[in-house]
Amino acid sequence: MITAKAIRDKAQQDLQELQRLCIHPNSTWMNEEFAPAHGTGCTVKVCDICEKVLERNSDYNHNFFR
Ligand SMILES: [Zn+2]
Repeated sequence: MITAKAIRDKAQQDLQELQRLCIHPNSTWMNEEFAPAHGTGCTVKVCDICEKVLERNSDYNHNFFR
């Protein structure tokens, strides 16, 4: 039986493989959000292809994720 967890795990593996192989030809700066409409005060440069975060800027010193 295929479970939702199995599908999510497979999708996560596929995404990691995409990000590993991607050369990130195009990227976009956007506001980072930890929840919809709740910005972290940071901007992130995200690859248009694989959505990997390539760079991260913060005006603050708090770090939600790392
Ligand atoms: Zn990429």
